Amino acid sequence: MQKRVVILGAGYGGLVAALELAKEVTEQDAEIILVNKYDYHQLVTQLYEPAAAAKRDTEVRIPLVKLLSGKPIRLVRDVVTRIDPKEKRVFLQGGELTYDYLVVALGSETEYFGIPGLKEYSLTLKSVDEARLIRTHIERCFAEYPYDPRPEYMTFVVGGAGLTGIELVGEIADWLPRLCEESNIPRDRVQLYNVEAMPSILPGFDEDLAAKAEAILKAKGVVFKVGSPIVRVEPEAVHLKNGEVIRTKTIIWTGGVRGNQIVVDAGFETEPRGRAKVNEYLQAVGYEDVYMAGDCCFVLNEQGRPYPPTAQLAIQMGSCVAKNLCADLKGGKKVPFAPKILGTVASLGGRDAVGKVGERYKTSGRIAYFIKDLSQIRYLAKIGGLMK
Ligand SMILES: Cc1cc2nc3c(=O)[nH]c(=O)nc-3n(C[C@H](O)[C@H](O)[C@H](O)COP(=O)(O)OP(=O)(O)OC[C@H]3O[C@@H](n4cnc5c(N)ncnc54)[C@H](O)[C@@H]3O)c2cc1C
Repeated sequence: MQKRVVILGAGYGGLVAALELAKEVTEQDAEIILVNKYDYHQLVTQLYEPAAAAKRDTEVRIPLVKLLSGKPIRLVRDVVTRIDPKEKRVFLQGGELTYDYLVVALGSETEYFGIPGLKEYSLTLKSVDEARLIRTHIERCFAEYPYDPRPEYMTFVVGGAGLTGIELVGEIADWLPRLCEESNIPRDRVQLYNVEAMPSILPGFDEDLAAKAEAILKAKGVVFKVGSPIVRVEPEAVHLKNGEVIRTKTIIWTGGVRGNQIVVDAGFETEPRGRAKVNEYLQAVGYEDVYMAGDCCFVLNEQGRPYPPTAQLAIQMGSCVAKNLCADLKGGKKVPFAPKILGTVASLGGRDAVGKVGERYKTSGRIAYFIKDLSQIRYLAKIGGLMK
């Protein structure tokens, strides 16, 4: 008998789960419904590029109709507001859905760590719309400065020196000379800060790679404030723990992620940062009919620490969930989730990058950038995003 599989979120985890499940089951086995807030899939790992005018918005979003064309997947464009796993119901802004099996792949939210003013006065980078907001805000600062030449307009702060913060600061550093030229503002009037609470940048990267990235970005004019937690943000000021105050109209916060609040509110068992606990098959604790994929859940590495939330993990989780759903629907053995760490490369702007391929091979410069590009092309090929 046909079962209904509802997949929440068409990001890396949810889209891959839907596409791979659709390959394995027939419409007699399952009705697959994919629910997403937007009618496009976002290439979140590249958002730093449109945020700094290095790419157009349309280059980092792919219409879902194109990706789902000819596939037995029904797209519901709507916003999930609540999940009731006991009643097997999902509430949307425009209605509700029941399910036999549910996949929750709603991604993450920003963690502000309770820092006063941070949520109210910062910009974030989690969607194409937010990337556009950052880009237009920076352009507006340059447009307003000639009329109100206070240094606040020409001071830009990126909070957080993880992958997102570093990739964004690198891309903005490359954009600044063009902005200065267009606006006829001397480059030495502009300050670009990267502020990080931890003692070094790019946590999780080898020390030598992080040091290389820091040197490259410093040469582009980025001023690092590491070991400098932000303690308060005001509309035109960022206060650091050491007492320093950076006067600015721009703080972009990339320093923290937490699970999706919808997952917490649904009553799934979560860790303190709101990410759902799952078993080896990626089923939510206590619910065999609910699978989780991507940033909204967590799995532990061999050292017993949670893997950082990444697209590569979300994609692999999506594949694993598809296999296990297939076993539920057609019989067969479920497979435990066994992540393969393919490496991580951080772009530094200007076709420069540093990172690791696999667990060992270190890379930097144009080769690293090429490897990052290649992994993007491989992903697009996987989801059918290369076809015109
Ligand atoms: C700028 C940046 C650079 C990054 N670089 C890298 C990198 O180089 N390598 C790497 O591996 N990782 C990188 N990451 C992390 C990576 O992007 C995430 O780990 C990944 O996007 C998680 O995938 P996901 O499927 O869990 O969530 P997402 O990709 O965020 O997808 C969630 C989906 O759910 C939808 N959604 C959310 N809430 C609702 C709702 N209420 N109703 C309906 N739909 C909803 C969203 O629209 C979205 O489509 C980067 C992240 C950022 C922000």
